[in-house]
Order: sequence, then C-alpha cells, then structure tokens
Amino acid sequence: MGLEIAHHLKEWYRTNRRDLAFRRTRDPYAILVAEAILQRTRMVAGLPYYERFLARFPTIADLANASEEEVLRAWEGLGFYGRARNLQRAAILILSDHGGRVPEQVSALRTLPGVGDYTAGAVASIAFGVPVPAIDGNATRVLARVFCLRGDLSRGEGRRRLLAIAESLVPATEPGMYNQALMELGATVCVPRAPRCPVCPVQSMCGAFAEGRAEAYPNVRRTTTVPTVRVAFALIERRGRVLLMQRPSRGVLAKFWSLPGGEVGADEDEATGLRRMFSLKGVSVRIDEPLGRVEHTFSHRRWRGLILRGRLAGTIRPHADLIWAGPEDLERLPVVPFQRRFLEGPRSSRRRSGV
Ligand code: SF4
Repeated sequence: MGLEIAHHLKEWYRTNRRDLAFRRTRDPYAILVAEAILQRTRMVAGLPYYERFLARFPTIADLANASEEEVLRAWEGLGFYGRARNLQRAAILILSDHGGRVPEQVSALRTLPGVGDYTAGAVASIAFGVPVPAIDGNATRVLARVFCLRGDLSRGEGRRRLLAIAESLVPATEPGMYNQALMELGATVCVPRAPRCPVCPVQSMCGAFAEGRAEAYPNVRRTTTVPTVRVAFALIERRGRVLLMQRPSRGVLAKFWSLPGGEVGADEDEATGLRRMFSLKGVSVRIDEPLGRVEHTFSHRRWRGLILRGRLAGTIRPHADLIWAGPEDLERLPVVPFQRRFLEGPRSSRRRSGV
C-alpha cells in the first residue's frame, strides 16, 4: 500500500502542484529559508518575503555576515521573529562548522537552531534525496485520515504511531517530491473543512473516506486563549523626524524600533500610562488626539490600545536606543510592523483612522 500511495501522490503532484517559487528549487539554503518562513506563514503570503529575503541575502555567507537589524528588517511583517534569528544563527553555524555547506543528514540538520524534525526532513529529502519523512500539519491531516488516526498526533504514542507510518511510506526514489506531494494534497485537497475527496488521488486507499467521515480525523480540538493587555504608543515628531526607541533584547518584538510606549497599568488610561512612562525617563509629555487603534495578537498575548499624538514639554537626549528617525532610518531599521503606516507618507496627510 505504501508504494501505491507514493505512486499516486507523485503522479497527481506532477500535474496539480501550484507553481510557486518555493517548490522550484533544490538549493538547500533556499529550502532552509523557505521552511523557516512556512513554519508559521501560509505559502502564498510568505512568497514575497521569500523572494525578497533571498534577493537580500543570496548566500549563506551573506546571511551569516549581516547585522541582526538587517535580518529583522527583511523579516518585518512576517511575525514570529525568533525564526529569523534562528535562521541567521544556523547560517553562522553552517559557515563555521560545515564549511559553508548545508549538511545532508537529518542528525546534523537537527543540530541547527530552529531546525526540528519537519524542517530537517524537508531539507534532507528535497535538496539531497534522503528518504526521510517531512511531516507538517497538512501531511499529518492526510495521514490521519488515510490511516484513521485519532487523538493528539503531536506527542506521545500518537506521534510515534504517525511517524512510524510516515517512515514506512517514504519511497526510495524521489522522496522529496513525495513529501511535497503529501503536503500539497493536505493544503489544497485534504483541507480541514469539506475535503475534496472526489478529486483525491488516494481516495481508494483512504480509511476515513471509506467510513464516510473524513472530517472526524484527526479529532483534536485545541483552544488557546491568550490574555489581552492594554498598550499605548506616542507619535512625537520634530522637524520631519519621529521619536523611536529600540525594544528590549528579549520578549515581544525584541530589538525592533518602536514608537515610545508599551503596556499600560490596569488602573490607568492610555494617556496616563504614556505620561508615566515618559516621566520615568525624566521627561514630561503632552498627550493629544488618538491617531489609531492597536489590535495585534502574538502567540501568547493580545495587544489592544491606542497610538496617540504626543508633544514633548522638554528636551530628550537621544542615545543608542532612542533616536529621532528620519526617512533613511525608517527605510533601514526594523520597525514594529503595525506602526509603520503611521510613520510613512507625508505627515500632513495622515488622518485619524480607526478611532
Ligand atoms: Fe483526504 Fe478525502 Fe483524500 Fe481521504 S479521500 S485523503 S479524506 S481528501
């Protein structure tokens, strides 16, 4: 059955795959970049970032030798910025420990920062033809349905069963194409809701289809609730420049440049919170009209609040992590993505939006 599934999947993939740049390369570095992006981003949304990133850092050495700020700037807007930092650390390690060549073996790939079983399997099979599985969420769903696997397949016994089946299915020839076909089937046909079983190439081998209840597999429901915290940021301008501060090196949006501000206390409104934050720096500030709302969800918290116009009542001394940023700085620096629209374009045309 394993060979049959692989054969049907590859035949289907040859004529049905989406023609995306991610899938046109066997360059291991490009695949490493693609997989880092696709870990948390949908393929179509990630494509322009992938192309820009490779144009900006065409080789492992280019990425390894770049500044962290340059890497974050290229990643700005993709979220989950730990991926970008890990990718650069991986490039540095590949340069220092592997002679600048991405290693072929899964065990060596797994030692690179940010590279788990899935990414190691994808790089090894697609770039080097090593017959190992690459099981992402889409592939998991297909296998769960074909083999009627229920429960939590991300850990413990469920995970072991899934991996044992996945390993037994990988063909010796064209394992990379097979892995991509399995993932593509999950992304385009065997989708979470209303799978397109009538056009599925493995329908005759699918246990869930035979039972007539494809959507029952896998049956894990995970509900994650993230706490909401209120935030406020001040847009303060002076002679065509805007005041920016660099966020701490740890935590949410680490090292990104931001409008001054942050989380406000439970017992204060946004303007009061901003005045308190500035007073801690020894500066008083006048807070004027709101310019826009903040609604942003991270993996573990949700920010909700306001961006307000502010005016300094005194002077503030710029230093390494507090600058008056001009257009050239805004072009060069990684800026908190949802704030960028307030910083670009002629200041005079900025409108009160979303308030
Ligand atoms: Fe998924 Fe339906 Fe194909 Fe089974 S037959 S693998 S449920 S699309």
